Amino acid sequence: MATEAAFVKLSEILAQEEFSDNNAAPISDDPNFVIHPADTWCGTVEASPQPAPDVSIDAFIPDRTRHLWRLDDVITYGFMPYETKYKRNIDDTAENCEPTEFRKDTVKAVLKFYLNYLPLNFQETNEDMSKLDFSNPEHRKKVDLRIAFGSPVQQGYWGWAMGIGPRIRQKVFMNKPPEAPGPTYASVFLGGIPSSEEEAKKITEKWRKETQRTIYHEIGHVLGLEHEHASPLSPTTGELRPVTETMVATLFDEQSIMLYSGIKYKADPKKVTKDTFSPSHTDLVLLMLMYPDSAKEDGNFAKAAKSMGYTKDSRDIMLDMLHHALEDPTGIQHKIIDRLREVIADNINDHPRLAV
Ligand SMILES: [Zn+2]
Repeated sequence: MATEAAFVKLSEILAQEEFSDNNAAPISDDPNFVIHPADTWCGTVEASPQPAPDVSIDAFIPDRTRHLWRLDDVITYGFMPYETKYKRNIDDTAENCEPTEFRKDTVKAVLKFYLNYLPLNFQETNEDMSKLDFSNPEHRKKVDLRIAFGSPVQQGYWGWAMGIGPRIRQKVFMNKPPEAPGPTYASVFLGGIPSSEEEAKKITEKWRKETQRTIYHEIGHVLGLEHEHASPLSPTTGELRPVTETMVATLFDEQSIMLYSGIKYKADPKKVTKDTFSPSHTDLVLLMLMYPDSAKEDGNFAKAAKSMGYTKDSRDIMLDMLHHALEDPTGIQHKIIDRLREVIADNINDHPRLAV
């Protein structure tokens, strides 16, 4: 089917299909508790506001509007050595910051987990990170994700990521806010990860889980996910942000890795959000829909589409489009992928739901 005709047909089918708001996870025993639709959102194609001057560098991604990686992007990463040439708001020791093999392996295991589901291309840089000077924008361009380790600010920052999706390439940590840990020029900070297997045995289970959760969460931002509790229809208190036409929001997912713990619910301030320790089913399904792996009926995309409630009719058209997009000998057809992302995002926003 010609691509444009396929989109028209898909839109027609989706307009007729019914999607139940399957709030599978009750969040309160209170019968008067109101569940608001939305959440688990991630960026799709929004034109980004200009980055604030103190975090901007010369943009070098050709398209500043992207929230999500293209399927053929090469995402380079490297681990920042402990160096005093980079300023830290909070003094820290080499022991806490040095990128040991154990720490690197801990992060790589999380990347590997995500890559079981997503066809993205993360590559560890061949550059010697201690020889690069990240105050130089040209050097920053060589490593998209400059991952730094250190001590967490407990009750504060266990970790952070400077940007969402590919826009992390444009963002640089310039020691703001002043209470944030980590060195200048990092793009991802991960706190509290033990330096070795022996050290790992000494920390508490609670500490270990907090570090795991942090890595999954920060890599979630790198993949394009926003905070669960910041969605405009989140049932939690606190600052909510608008869903723009480029955001996709599922129903509130209390198991999302992007949800902070300890946030009060509006309807029941005695109840707070709980810790989550790994990506939820809906987190992964949404990512698999936004980063389609193949046009095969037993591929991750097809499974995710089924899980999100799409009928065989609509799935067949989606897979046909993916066939055109992914199996073109001249290269991936990004326009088709972007259109598919838009159609799916619009549909989920119109019918917020969780994956089943
Ligand atoms: Zn976050």
